Amino acid sequence: MTVQEQSLARPVMTSHRGDRSKVPYQFDQPAGMPADFLLAGALNLDCDEREWVPQAEGVWFRPLILSLTGGYFVNLTRVRRSGVLSRHRHGGPVHAFTLRGHWHYLEHEWVATEGSYAFEPPGETHTLVVPEEVTEMITLFHVTGNYVYVDPYGKALDYEDVYTKLESARQHYENVGLGADYADRFIR
Ligand code: FE
Repeated sequence: MTVQEQSLARPVMTSHRGDRSKVPYQFDQPAGMPADFLLAGALNLDCDEREWVPQAEGVWFRPLILSLTGGYFVNLTRVRRSGVLSRHRHGGPVHAFTLRGHWHYLEHEWVATEGSYAFEPPGETHTLVVPEEVTEMITLFHVTGNYVYVDPYGKALDYEDVYTKLESARQHYENVGLGADYADRFIR
């Protein structure tokens, strides 16, 4: 291939008309694509208290996205009590970023400390503990699929998925006067 042929085969990044690197994409997005989404202050952990949806005694969650068609949700979980929080089995992978406080699973040696990232594999059953010295724990969980609350022998007791999260959020936002549809902004 001659030098001239090589330059013709390569994509043209710039031209004499100017730098194309700052030109936005020129075509429509794919048909059926869900809308994009920006949530300002997503990591403002001391936001309006009404944002926090009660989940259990001393436990709240704040949705960041509720993906109905993707079958996953991302939320901040806030815990203000210590001890065993729940024992559950994951149907899909979980990514956990600890933002405040620390916690661990009875089944593992590691401790999820502030600033850490943890991966929870699908199929795993574990028991979440917040130690006594932690007054507040906040973790960003990206949960795919569902998780099933179980007893120590794996017997299913209850479950959570993106739909139970949406239902709780709609109920709570209605109760605090924001309106049930306040939760709908998180749906994709
Ligand atoms: Fe888990």
